[in-house]
Amino acid sequence: MHESNIYTCSACMYTFQAESKPELCPDCGKAEVRPATDKERDEYLANKALADDARPERTSKLQPDLSAEETAELERVIGVMLPYIQECPLYDVIWSDKFGYLLVTIPGKKKSCDSDAIQLDDPRKLLDELYSNLAYDFMEDHGYLGDYEAITPEDVLAMRDWMRVYTDQLPEYDDVLEHILAKLS
Ligand SMILES: [Zn+2]
Repeated sequence: MHESNIYTCSACMYTFQAESKPELCPDCGKAEVRPATDKERDEYLANKALADDARPERTSKLQPDLSAEETAELERVIGVMLPYIQECPLYDVIWSDKFGYLLVTIPGKKKSCDSDAIQLDDPRKLLDELYSNLAYDFMEDHGYLGDYEAITPEDVLAMRDWMRVYTDQLPEYDDVLEHILAKLS
C-alpha cells in the first residue's frame, strides 16, 4: 500500500486513496483536494482496517447463478444439516472456486452406486439427498429390507419425530420431506 497516496478534500473533509492527486474531489466535486495530513491519513487507515476486519470472508463466495441472499440461504441450510453431513460417511459439502458449493458422494466399498457431485444451486437439492438418506437410515435401523418395502404410518410418525432436529429449523422446506415420504409410503 502506498500510504502517501491519501488525499483529503478541504471542502467536505472526505479522505480517500488514489493513484495520483485528482483535480476534483470524488465526493463533492470541488477542486479542493490536497494530500492528507498525518492525522487524517492515520484515521483513514484505521477506519479502513476496521471495515476490512468486519467484512466476512465469504462475501466473495457466491454460488454460481445465485444472488448473495440466495447464497446466504444455501449456507444457512448447509449449517443446519452440518451435524449430519459430518457424521455421515457418504457425504460431504465442499466449496469449489469453479462450481461453488458441491454435495459430493463417495460411496463405501460395499455400495454399488457411483461417486457423484451435485452442484448446490438450490437448497432443495441438498435436502432432497440428505432427507432421503436420513429416511433410509431410519428404515434400515427399523428392519426394513431395501428401498421397496413401504413404510408404515406409525413409522412415518416416528421418523418425522426423529428428523425434527433438522426439519424444525427448516419449515420452509417441509415439501421436500413430504415428497420423499410420499414415495416411501
Ligand atoms: Zn469534497
